[in-house]
Amino acid sequence: MAKNDNTKSNAKELKEKLFMQKKNAALIMSDSDLKACDKFCEGYKDFLDRCKTEREATAFIKKQAESSGFVPFEKRKAHKAGDKVYYVNREKSVILAVIGKEPIENGVNIVAAHIDSPRLDMKQNPLYEKDDIGYFKTHYYGGIKKYQWPTVPLSLHGVIVKADGTKVAVNLGEDENDPVFCVSDLLPHLASSQYKRPATELIKGEELNIIIGSRPFREDDASEAVKLNLMLALNEKYGIVEADFLSAELEAVPAFKAKDVGFDRSLVGAYGQDDRVCAYTELMAVLEAKSLNRTAVAILTDKEETGSDGNTGLRSAYLKYFIADLAAGFGVRGRDVLAKSRCLSADVNAAYDPTFPDVFEKNNSAVLNGGVCVTKYTGSRGKSGTSDASAEFVGEIRALLDKQGVIWQTGELGKVDIGGGGTVAAYIANLDVDTIDVGVPVLSMHAPFEITAKTDIYAAYKAFEAFVNN
Ligand code: MN
Ligand code: MN
Repeated sequence: MAKNDNTKSNAKELKEKLFMQKKNAALIMSDSDLKACDKFCEGYKDFLDRCKTEREATAFIKKQAESSGFVPFEKRKAHKAGDKVYYVNREKSVILAVIGKEPIENGVNIVAAHIDSPRLDMKQNPLYEKDDIGYFKTHYYGGIKKYQWPTVPLSLHGVIVKADGTKVAVNLGEDENDPVFCVSDLLPHLASSQYKRPATELIKGEELNIIIGSRPFREDDASEAVKLNLMLALNEKYGIVEADFLSAELEAVPAFKAKDVGFDRSLVGAYGQDDRVCAYTELMAVLEAKSLNRTAVAILTDKEETGSDGNTGLRSAYLKYFIADLAAGFGVRGRDVLAKSRCLSADVNAAYDPTFPDVFEKNNSAVLNGGVCVTKYTGSRGKSGTSDASAEFVGEIRALLDKQGVIWQTGELGKVDIGGGGTVAAYIANLDVDTIDVGVPVLSMHAPFEITAKTDIYAAYKAFEAFVNN
């Protein structure tokens, strides 16, 4: 009979049956899986080093897609199963699609990550000299802790469009022999009044001035001789004049390379892992996709860090129009495809930080090495701004990940009312698509050097692979 159900010897068994099990991914994975994971992360680090801006990521993704057999998307063309197409939106966003065997009106599987990251953008009129030092004025892009950015070696990336319309690409500070750039900070000896500022103003926006040189043009009576000498060097290198900055997009990002972190090399430290960790993992899953049942669509978008507005961000209609143009080739309406589609909004989440436990509610936080994080809702203060995936859709994804042996966890971004955040999930869900957030937990998110765990990166790749193929 059930008499001894409550005895001590049964507790362990019952717990195993009734409680949720949480385990470090490295304890669940086989030796060969761990090996594959570490190898996968070598490719990931290389991607991070090559792609520090949305433009560089777009160019890289286009090239990878082409060498995997993807061809430029043609609107309203009749596609057949196995076709692979790509669409580049203004050199800052990309959509890849692999056509499946099922009719497109059954819907498509969408994975969406962003390829822009927080950084310092040059102002439109950036160049000036002050007390014999040459500077660029900046306006930061995305949510940064401003005090983290001084004294970090920076590289410059972007494009300058000249008066005649020709475009020069800039990438300076990444090569071993390149110079780098830097924002200065006060020495501690003179910082007593700086220390009294609130942390949000420890370094003010207008103090994020990048040092770009200090040697004057050698002629005694010239004013602004440092600026003149710098403009001369810029003219020689890029063929530009000062007014060309007006039509430029120059972005300063940390100049260092992605590194393994820890004696055991279990972590990756790098700039821009939010959200290139999801971009790379979803890209690999889609590039490797073969003979799919449902059509797969991978979006790698711009402007997430500033709120997704603008024609390269996901609040614009470019995704909706792409789906409509794709559907038209099959004689189907785009809205009918969207209504049956499902989406993994692939973006990072905050990893629980044992040094700062107070802001996390541990039962509902993602941890490093806990696997890919599935987030039902984001938003802040009463879930404001979230698309909140339905229980049915969470159930579908849960069953899929479990069936495919993907290591996963859940996580909410911090304690209720402490903060919060949003992703592109809501903009895709607003198109009538079942959408849920999935991504890699990150320590020090939005800092110049962010940290992720290799097992979580690999789990994200496995999750996207499972989603795209099923
Ligand atoms: Mn993000
Ligand atoms: Mn972010």
